[in-house]
Amino acid sequence: MATNKNYILKKKTASTTQEIYKGITNGDISSLSRAITITESCKPADKQISNELIQLCSTKTNPSLRIGITGVPGVGKSTFIESFGELITKSNKKIAVLAVDPSSQHTGGSILGDKTRMEQLGRNPRVFIRPSPSGKNLGGVARSTRESILLCEAAGFDIILIETVGVGQSETEVHSMVDFFLLLMLAGAGDELQGIKRGIMEMADLIVINKADGTNVTKAKGAKKLLQSALHYFPPHKSGWAVKTMTCSALENVGIDEIWQTCLDFEKQQLKNGYLISNRSQQNSDWFQKTLSTQFQELIIGKPEISDLIKTNETKILSGQISPFQAVDEIIEAFAKSFT
Ligand code: GDP
Repeated sequence: MATNKNYILKKKTASTTQEIYKGITNGDISSLSRAITITESCKPADKQISNELIQLCSTKTNPSLRIGITGVPGVGKSTFIESFGELITKSNKKIAVLAVDPSSQHTGGSILGDKTRMEQLGRNPRVFIRPSPSGKNLGGVARSTRESILLCEAAGFDIILIETVGVGQSETEVHSMVDFFLLLMLAGAGDELQGIKRGIMEMADLIVINKADGTNVTKAKGAKKLLQSALHYFPPHKSGWAVKTMTCSALENVGIDEIWQTCLDFEKQQLKNGYLISNRSQQNSDWFQKTLSTQFQELIIGKPEISDLIKTNETKILSGQISPFQAVDEIIEAFAKSFT
């Protein structure tokens, strides 16, 4: 009886997968949205569909450029994406805008959740905007964003923009899923580093000083110069790309075309030297390692008796009764026993 039920469920999920996959490859936005919602779901049946969909979409090789955009709140990310996105669509390209926003677990919202953001771009038929899921931890958001990238590419999107708030760990996650990493900054008295960690600056392929308009132009140019000289002290990129600095006004649409041209130059160079492809393979391999360890962890924690033992051993470690290594050994032993 149970086998029969499983068989019917498998058949049902397989037909749902095929139906959604067909929709995605036909560029149907509602199928794409449905697929992303499924990848964000925690239900076992959805997980199966999601895994099958990702497998199918991974084999579709649409040439695309994945661009990460980061910067502190207020730097002008959404204003920039509006201008940048409108410009890119003029060259007949289709853009997907995704967000990685771990702060959403605290606020219950998301960086793209506010409907007033990127309102104009959202109406462009060549653009797909998807806020990050709220209420998930960073690992979960990053995983579904990565899966969303593959789904969007299978749906024929040429440029994938991934927005993240430049204040924490999310940049490293985003950097590990994009080809090109753009950091937006502001000019201002002594705030060239304005909370942006040096590590984030080192990851950037292009650093842009935004709000270079009105009385701020000279200040922005000065900040750009300072940055340019600071770059000499940064380690060179493995990709062979020489990091650039620029100024722009996202609000007045100045300097946006030069930024787009830089992205195109980057893509051309990286395709020629083979780094774009080898970097994506490396990212896949890193992703495999990360998924393997998180899923193992989930599997272990998912067993109530093991989860209880973890808590007990944690207390014992704190009171000096056992070493962390012994604690882990006991947990692995109990986990292995749970299968016998
Ligand atoms: P985000 O939080 O990084 O997404 O920043 P927003 O795009 O929401 O912009 C924050 C504020 O800065 C808004 O009031 C924008 O109008 C303003 N802003 C964004 N870009 C520019 C710019 O290039 N010049 C000026 N003067 N203001 C800008």
